[in-house]
Amino acid sequence: MGGDVTRIRPLVAGNWKMNGLGSSLAELRSLQDRLAERPVPEADVLVCPPATLLTRACDALAGSGIALGAQDCHPLPSGPHTGDISAEMLADAGASAVIVGHSERRADHGETDASVNAKAKAAFRAGLFAIICVGETEQEKRDGATLEIIRRQLQGSVPQGARAENTVIAYEPVWAIGSGLTPTPADVAEVHGFIRGELSQLLGQAESSCLRLLYGGSVKPANASELLFVPDVNGALVGGASLKAGDFYAILSAYAGRATG
Ligand code: PEP
Repeated sequence: MGGDVTRIRPLVAGNWKMNGLGSSLAELRSLQDRLAERPVPEADVLVCPPATLLTRACDALAGSGIALGAQDCHPLPSGPHTGDISAEMLADAGASAVIVGHSERRADHGETDASVNAKAKAAFRAGLFAIICVGETEQEKRDGATLEIIRRQLQGSVPQGARAENTVIAYEPVWAIGSGLTPTPADVAEVHGFIRGELSQLLGQAESSCLRLLYGGSVKPANASELLFVPDVNGALVGGASLKAGDFYAILSAYAGRATG
């Protein structure tokens, strides 16, 4: 699509999901050690631990260049919403990013495109960048509805104020998450090209052409090189393999020495 796409700086983001205790911070230290020994200046790195670890992770990552993100936020800044956490609170705890609309939250908590949209706006309000997740289920793929689903999710979930500087889109086929299955590189290229085209309609060509599009779903050290260099893929959202520093670093290091523009 747009001519700037080859100059997009990639992002490798780790989503720890509901995993991690204080002892897991050792993985962050191990990741820092690996990066200190063999840096990967070609890509940005983000780790999204559970909210309970944000403050300690922020301390552990100080000065490392590894950014910190959260996995969800409430649309409102504060108020009577027991158990919820606002984007402002996440920023206060040291986060610079938040994942919104992950398929597990859409499924477990009935999140709709409208609520994801409100959460993304909350992220912008708090100065966080939003990683907005979209992706089709296995049945939708079987029905040949992938692009239609993605279009609907993008139209509903991406707010008007979205810009390349505050928004990342993660394409995560639901059937690929945690399953060990992945789409073919050709399928990923088709969907990512489609997403960039849709974003161009929604946000304009200038923003779309430099907005990062991550692929997510069973990215592992063994398939990272194959998936990360697909056209219009500007990084990865990594679940299970982000829990171990060695695996996460191995995925990230697919970018080492590779020109990404
Ligand atoms: C995810 O849940 O965002 C994800 C990509 O998970 P996994 O890498 O484990 O498939």
